[in-house]
Amino acid sequence: MNETLVQRMQVEVEGTVQGVGFRPFIYRLASELGLTGWIKNTRNGVAIEVEGSVSVVETFLQRMRSDAPASAAVEVISTSAIPTLDDESFSIGQCTESGQRALVIPPDLATCADCRRELNDPHDRRFRYPFLTCTQCGPRYSLLTAIPYERSNTTMAGFDLCPVCRTEYEAEADRRFHAEPIACPTCGPRLCLWDEQGHEVAGREEALQQVTALLDQGRIVAVKGLGGFQLWVDAKSEEAVRRLRDRKRRPEKPFALLFPSVDAVRDYCLLSSDEEALLCSPQAPIVLARKRQDTVLAEAVAPGNSCLGVMLPSTPLHDLLMASLQRPMVATSGNRSEEPIVTDEREALVRLQGIADALLVHDRLIARPVDDSVVLVVGGKPVSNGMGEAGKLKAGMMILRRARGYAPQATRWSDGPSNGKAQGPILAVGGQLKNTVALLSGNRVVLSQHLGDLSTVESDRAFRQAIEDLQLMLQVTPEAVACDFHPDYRSTVFARMLSEALLVPLVPVQHHHAHVASCMAEHRLDGEVLGIAWDGAGYGGDGQIWGGEFLVASYRQFTRFAHLRPFRLPGGEAAMREPNRSAAAVLWELMGEEMPVHRLPSWKVTENQRAQLESLLRSSFSSPWTTSMGRLFDTVASLTGLCPQASFEGQAAMTVQFAAERETDEGIMSMEGYPMDVVPSDSPHTKRMVDWRPMISALLDDLRRGINPDKIAARFHAGLAVATVGLAQEAGLPRVVLTGGCFQNRLLLSLVRQRLERAGFTVYSHVLVPPNDGGLSLGQAVVAVCRLKDVQ
Ligand SMILES: [Zn+2]
Ligand SMILES: [Zn+2]
Ligand SMILES: [Zn+2]
Repeated sequence: MNETLVQRMQVEVEGTVQGVGFRPFIYRLASELGLTGWIKNTRNGVAIEVEGSVSVVETFLQRMRSDAPASAAVEVISTSAIPTLDDESFSIGQCTESGQRALVIPPDLATCADCRRELNDPHDRRFRYPFLTCTQCGPRYSLLTAIPYERSNTTMAGFDLCPVCRTEYEAEADRRFHAEPIACPTCGPRLCLWDEQGHEVAGREEALQQVTALLDQGRIVAVKGLGGFQLWVDAKSEEAVRRLRDRKRRPEKPFALLFPSVDAVRDYCLLSSDEEALLCSPQAPIVLARKRQDTVLAEAVAPGNSCLGVMLPSTPLHDLLMASLQRPMVATSGNRSEEPIVTDEREALVRLQGIADALLVHDRLIARPVDDSVVLVVGGKPVSNGMGEAGKLKAGMMILRRARGYAPQATRWSDGPSNGKAQGPILAVGGQLKNTVALLSGNRVVLSQHLGDLSTVESDRAFRQAIEDLQLMLQVTPEAVACDFHPDYRSTVFARMLSEALLVPLVPVQHHHAHVASCMAEHRLDGEVLGIAWDGAGYGGDGQIWGGEFLVASYRQFTRFAHLRPFRLPGGEAAMREPNRSAAAVLWELMGEEMPVHRLPSWKVTENQRAQLESLLRSSFSSPWTTSMGRLFDTVASLTGLCPQASFEGQAAMTVQFAAERETDEGIMSMEGYPMDVVPSDSPHTKRMVDWRPMISALLDDLRRGINPDKIAARFHAGLAVATVGLAQEAGLPRVVLTGGCFQNRLLLSLVRQRLERAGFTVYSHVLVPPNDGGLSLGQAVVAVCRLKDVQ
């Protein structure tokens, strides 16, 4: 090849390439290689033209992929040769395109290594400045007020740049070139400490020192973090942590912990290399890691839990505080129960009144609540789902709460190979608990951050804001609204009103179909799959509460291939908090009047309760039927005495999982599980029913023989895994999708996966979209777009 042959190449890059330092990176790369041309942002990503010798342009294209900034996600590169122009240098241009916005909004990212170095360098002008950022790190989504992502469209718009910052901002070769939230002690936001009445008691350095002192004394401090307030307290002080629990009215649900370093985490947790990589990633989520036996943390941090939710400092402010504290801190969302995180300091004075002893605040506004994300590492194979670094990073990661660092990263989506073209904007409003909303436009779906449980006024407000936000930032109005089948979910009621107001179709999607579709969309599956959707509760449309479902599903439709044998839920909703109710119902189904409470010493139910439950079951009054797998887990939690009462959603199921994990980490694959039968269904619309009665009978025998609850929990898990294989074989589809809140249980997930794979099935589970109801909106959006296309 002729080395001197010059060519010009037009390059288009799609993905997360804005707000992540991609243009300066390309500028430096091209300059280093002596190439000429330009780069600019476009509505789909960036457009580049480069000119130089053929081999050097080739090198450029290779290094564009291999050396891209850690937080960039290069999804698609298309190239074409064009006539040479012989320009003099490489330059960075501004976006000139108008029209429909691409669904690319950069997420918030943890402080990068370069900024951390400056933070700790006494000779740097940003030494110990809590708001330093660059193009590689810092807030984006949490301070964005409009797009495109430019300083004037952020909450930093009110801070005028000082001359030094302006020079950095405008210099193409500077690592802060167009770092939109750029700031320094001269021109940027300022920190201060408030007492509980909102009186300023200290500023800047003095504020940091006083906060450290307060935390040392076991006080509770509300810290204004990146996407909202966190409540901090010393994790080693039993008394202080208990005080926080009392004040927050949160008796048992685990608190997240902030550690000064990875080494410090290792003193308390057994960390795998995958878990460590996630902790240190730019997304810096809370990682659920196994607790060491010899820890000296307050038991009240995560009572009875075998895991700890741990994270590392993700902002300069967190870095500064943790560097002086040098020990684990509880850093939990600044809210009450399931409300969204508080973002405004004046609001914090009201909503966190009586909880926080002091507030560490600043004058950089938070545009929207963005909570800390929660992830879990599970066994699995590497996946490449085009969702960037996080997707590449983690073989077996699973996001349980998707917020800071991940939201609102888009999922590239197209309805199979036949259709990658633009589709009308569709808004999907999600479910009721762990709500998220999604907006599908073109071949992308943007999933909002975790918004919480819609039954509180504050969450409802956050929900409405998220919907307005997505439309505003993406400048689209929905042409259809998708929602859950449940007529009374707040989100459904809202969707109905919105669709009427906009005169656009409303598309209700069955809860478990949405779960299956969300997992299919995440892996871009086309055609039909067997979807195993196991969770707490979803409206079935037939008067029953579904939750142990085997669906033969495509995006457009589904048939209910099989489900768990139904049992009653005495008292309906109340059964979610009281596993004893599910246990009573299951025993009632099994033996009716002889519900043998007296022969099961482990079943911790009072005489009074039993009589009450019996009368509910006898009269069938307010006792709806359910096929919920979550309630079957509750049954086991109750019968074994592991968890008769639950103080938060999913607690009972977790105790059963932890018990099983205690029993066996290795031997469970060969363990004999309790038997389940696959029998013909009694409903005309369903082929099969999975009968849990033999399983419960065997479990009762074990209880009577005094077998320990850990072994019983393990056999229960193993039995469920075996039953799925028989069912999948009957369904006869080669691809199986595992979804729903029950699959947050990593033991259950890996057992079911292994069994199915061993039997020759290809198994898909969630990675970047939560398996719980946080993933519903994505599923609703893709189901709706496919249904509407059929209509057209
Ligand atoms: Zn940085
Ligand atoms: Zn400045
Ligand atoms: Zn669900």
